[in-house]
Amino acid sequence: MLPTSQIEISKRALENNLRFLKKQMGPEVIISSVVKGHAYGHTIEKFVPLAEACGMKHFSVFDASEAYRVKKAASNPETEVMIMGMVDDNQVEWAVESGISFFTFEMERLEAALAAARKVGSPAKVHIEVETGMNRTGFDSYQLPEVAHLLKAYPRELQFEGLCTHFAGAESIANYLRVKNQRKVFNHLHKWFRQQGLQPMFRHAACSAAAIRYPPTRLDMVRIGIMQYGFWPSRETFIDFSTRSGQKKDPLERLVAWKSKVMDIKRVKTGEYVGYGTSYLANEEMDIATVPVGYAHGFSRSLSNQGRVLIHGKRVGVIGMVNMNMITVDISQLDGVKKGDEVVIIGRQGDMELSVSSFGEFSEQVNYELLTRLPLDIPRRVVE
Ligand SMILES: *Cc1c(COP(=O)(O)O)cnc(C)c1O
Repeated sequence: MLPTSQIEISKRALENNLRFLKKQMGPEVIISSVVKGHAYGHTIEKFVPLAEACGMKHFSVFDASEAYRVKKAASNPETEVMIMGMVDDNQVEWAVESGISFFTFEMERLEAALAAARKVGSPAKVHIEVETGMNRTGFDSYQLPEVAHLLKAYPRELQFEGLCTHFAGAESIANYLRVKNQRKVFNHLHKWFRQQGLQPMFRHAACSAAAIRYPPTRLDMVRIGIMQYGFWPSRETFIDFSTRSGQKKDPLERLVAWKSKVMDIKRVKTGEYVGYGTSYLANEEMDIATVPVGYAHGFSRSLSNQGRVLIHGKRVGVIGMVNMNMITVDISQLDGVKKGDEVVIIGRQGDMELSVSSFGEFSEQVNYELLTRLPLDIPRRVVE
C-alpha cells in the first residue's frame, strides 16, 4: 500500500552535526550515539546503519529489546552497544553473551551479571551507575562497599567498563547548582573507587546539554541523543552556546523532514464554512487544498486552525479542524497549486523551514516528545 506521507532522514545533516559535536568534544572524548525511543523517532533500523556510515561505533539504548535491534541493524562487528536502563534478570545472560554492556544500579543485577559471566564464560561489561543526586537509579553510597567487594573478588567475570551517572536537568540554568553538586559527588565517588584499587575503563555522565554546556562533564565519554538529530536540548542551551561562541547561526541541521502531497484542491465561496462544524468561515472566496495527513498520522488536533505547512516554498495555514486522516490548508495566496504538489509538514522547502516545535503544541522539551511520537507506520527513507 502506498503511504500518504513519508519521513526523510538526511545523511548530510547527520554528518554536519557529528562534525560539529566532535569538534566541540575534542578528539579524546568518545561519543556514544543515543538511539533509545526508536532513535528519537528516526527508527533504529534506518538510523544505526547511517550513523555507522558516519563513523559512529558506540550506541546507547534504554532496554534489551532496543539493544537487540541495534545489533541486528549494525554491520560493523566493532560496534558497541550499551543499555542504560531496563534489562530483566533473564536477559542479562543474553547481554553478556552478545558483548553488550549495561548500567548496573542494584545488587540483584550485579549478581545476575556475575552468574551470567560464569555460565557463558565471558566477562559481563558493567557500567556501575552511582547515585549523585538525581534520585532515579544508581547505587547509594552505603551499597558501594559491597559493589567494590564483588568487582574485586571477580575481576575476570565482572569487567568494570564504566562508572556513570546522569544529571537532573542540565538543559536549564535553574538546575545549575544541583548539577554542580552532582559533579562533585561523582568525582568524589570515582576517587573512592580508585582508592579501592578499582579503575573503570570509562567515566561518563553527560547528555547533550551537559556536554555542550559544562566541558568538565565530558570525562571519557558523552552520551549524545537529541543534538546528533539536529535539535538543541532547550532554547536556553542554544542561547548559551551562541553567547559564548559568538555564533549566531544554528550550527545543527535537522535530519528529519516529513512530507506529503496535495490530495485535492477546490474553491470555497464567501460565507461558507470549511470542514466539520463552524470552526472556520470563509470571509471571502478562497482556494483550499486537502493534505492526506491527520491526527491518526500524528498531526495533532490541537493544530486545528493553527498549524502550518509548506507548499511552493511558502507557509500556509491549516483551516478548520484537523481530521483523522486529512487537513485543509488555505492556498489562496499561491498560484498554480496542483494535485500531487509536495507538502512539507516538518522540514525545509526552498528557503523556509518548519521546525518540529512549531508543529507541536508549545511545551517544555517539545522536541524530544514530538520526535519520539512520530508514528512508526510512516515510512522513513534515508536521503543524501
Ligand atoms: C536519553 C539519555 C541521554 C541522552 O540525552 P540527550 O539530552 O538526548 O542528549 C543520555 N543519558 C541518559 C542516561 C539518557 O537516558
